[in-house]
Amino acid sequence: MAVETKRPETIVLHAGWRADPATGAVAPPIYQTTSYQFRDTEHAANLFALKELGNIYTRLGNPTTDILEQRLAALEGGAAALCVSSGQAASAFAVQNLARVGDNIVSSTDLYGGTWNLFANTLKDQGIEVRFVDPSDPENFRRATDSRTRAFFAETLPNPKLAVFPIAEVAAIGREIGVPLIMDNTAAPILARPLDHGAAVVVYSTTKFIGGHGTSIGGAIIDGGNFDWEKFAERQPALNTPDPSYHGAIWTQAVKPIGPVAYIIKIRTTLLRDLGAAPSPFNSFLTLQGLETLPLRMERHCQNATAVVHWLAKRPEIVKVIHPSQQSGETRARADKYLKGGYGALLGFELAGGATAGKKFIDALKLFYHVANIGDARSLAIHPASTTHSQLAEEAQLATGVSPGYVRLSVGLEHIDDILADLDQALKAI
Ligand code: PLP
Repeated sequence: MAVETKRPETIVLHAGWRADPATGAVAPPIYQTTSYQFRDTEHAANLFALKELGNIYTRLGNPTTDILEQRLAALEGGAAALCVSSGQAASAFAVQNLARVGDNIVSSTDLYGGTWNLFANTLKDQGIEVRFVDPSDPENFRRATDSRTRAFFAETLPNPKLAVFPIAEVAAIGREIGVPLIMDNTAAPILARPLDHGAAVVVYSTTKFIGGHGTSIGGAIIDGGNFDWEKFAERQPALNTPDPSYHGAIWTQAVKPIGPVAYIIKIRTTLLRDLGAAPSPFNSFLTLQGLETLPLRMERHCQNATAVVHWLAKRPEIVKVIHPSQQSGETRARADKYLKGGYGALLGFELAGGATAGKKFIDALKLFYHVANIGDARSLAIHPASTTHSQLAEEAQLATGVSPGYVRLSVGLEHIDDILADLDQALKAI
């Protein structure tokens, strides 16, 4: 790391890189290469045996991606990070690294739909059971745990309900019984640091706020280095028993000289090696470019979203605005405990006119893009009942928090007057 600081504004510009030793170039170079010349046979053998860390082949690691990994690890207060080709790959690897056939994990029900599918269908087909529980009561995680439970999984700020997850409460339950909490922090970078509250692992879709400009699909896994895998050796066999795919290495032992990074090294040396979801160096460069302005962008995203919430709350066409700032009781207390500096860019609202009004509203928008993405610099909108949630029956839609008239916004960085003007003309059109 080029600078020793905990301040995110400085970390995103300086961690992991100062200047190119060969040319003095200040911007991180795009190392668009597949392979790396070994100094000699001993060097090559040492790299493969993990006696020395270094570049072997871009599927396993790349110097441009390495800068992004160092910056994300520093930003989250973690020990090390691994970048992958999508947020989906990050979530899959984070779980597959611990759970094998016959094992299970316990997950919050409040999840991005793609993660839900991964858990309910693909992991199930691979022999890993995912037990879904209501996150409003942290004890539900303990109740669903048995001797084969290897991890807990949740999102910090899941949409559409936007009810912040009880990170410290669930992490503490897991730490008692040897179960690490994996947090998907995609919707709340900068605002929340789950590792500070006891989570063991953070995953991101960097596609969203971190990249920030809608150019590159990507994912990241950050190892907190704060979980005692050896203490719970029986609970965590994947890290504590010989790995036949790496000449019998026991990861907690093999990685000890490097640091408390057994979890993340195992993903790189086994899952990334075998399944190959490596990011392209060019995408890592674009993601780094986005990351440099993340703290500044999050501040403005939050300001604009809050202004939109206050404006929408006064409109007669709207029955309810969904945003952490509008919550009360325990849900609001969690938002205030875990989100610092703002309540995020995402918000929802329910139109009195139901599904017909929702569709008309979306079709009338001129500035907002109608897309299935979040976290772009541009403002985005979607009507979940007719798109992302259309495969679900109305009852199931309601259970996930999607009513027929629900509209989701990801508020961007345009001038607030232009954002409100577009919403105003679209509401008048319904
Ligand atoms: N997690 C969350 C919270 C998301 O919103 C998304 C994508 O929408 C993902 C994970 C998956 O990320 P990606 O699209 O980069 O695979």
